Amino acid sequence: MEKLIITVATTGAHTTKEQSPYVCLHPIEIAEEVYACWQAGASMAHIHVRDEDGNRTLSIEKYIDTINEIRKRCDIIINLTTTGRPIDSEEERMLPVELLPELVSFDAGSINFGAGVFINSPPFLESLARKTKEYNVKPEIEIFDAGMVDNAVRLAKNGLIDTPLHFQFVLGVTGGMSGDAKNLVFLKEAIPKDATWSALGVGKYSKSVMCMTIAMGGHVRVGMEDNIYIRKGVLAKSNVEFIKEIVQIAEINEREIASVEEARRILGIQRKEIPKRFLTK
Ligand code: ZN
Repeated sequence: MEKLIITVATTGAHTTKEQSPYVCLHPIEIAEEVYACWQAGASMAHIHVRDEDGNRTLSIEKYIDTINEIRKRCDIIINLTTTGRPIDSEEERMLPVELLPELVSFDAGSINFGAGVFINSPPFLESLARKTKEYNVKPEIEIFDAGMVDNAVRLAKNGLIDTPLHFQFVLGVTGGMSGDAKNLVFLKEAIPKDATWSALGVGKYSKSVMCMTIAMGGHVRVGMEDNIYIRKGVLAKSNVEFIKEIVQIAEINEREIASVEEARRILGIQRKEIPKRFLTK
């Protein structure tokens, strides 16, 4: 099996201080948390940013501050979200691509998401695909439901995204596929043979999806974006607790942990820098 790429998703768009006082929301807090997770074995950071009040934002300045603070501390792979609310413009959602992170999230379809609807229309997906290709930023194809795999494969067949594809199975969202074993097995079989894949389970599916994925040869994502509890009813005080748990499970499975450089090789990506035009503002 390939060495294990551990992604940490420290913040997300939804987790609040009321839910967990330990969630990090501001650029320096996020960077310090990412650095601690990198020391513990994470090789990729999936980044969302928040405004001064802790609300979700697509502020390019916040992204830049966060990336700069992380880069001062470590060389971890940067993966920026392109997730947005229905009121966010498609241009705003695509702008993080221009910062040249190594990856951006690519939500490969629309679903009901909790009480709302997460909209990723076919024209938006085509535009985002073209943009990632233009800027040579690898899409991390987030799969919430089975049909999204076909959406991504179709875009690749039409030459809009480069192969091999990299998937992130997001299981357990209310409105998407659950984190049951049969779903994970189905998705692993459904993607192209040369694709790489990672998985995460939201909330109660967090541990089982992590254990199954490590045993099945996939990569894993954990963090307070997806789950705030280290054990039932016990809040994690840091994302590091989740990383340490993965490292332990990987050891039991005799799966080595990928370094940042090894993760870059596995995913076929190279480190890039924020273009100067953003830094002079
Ligand atoms: Zn995210």
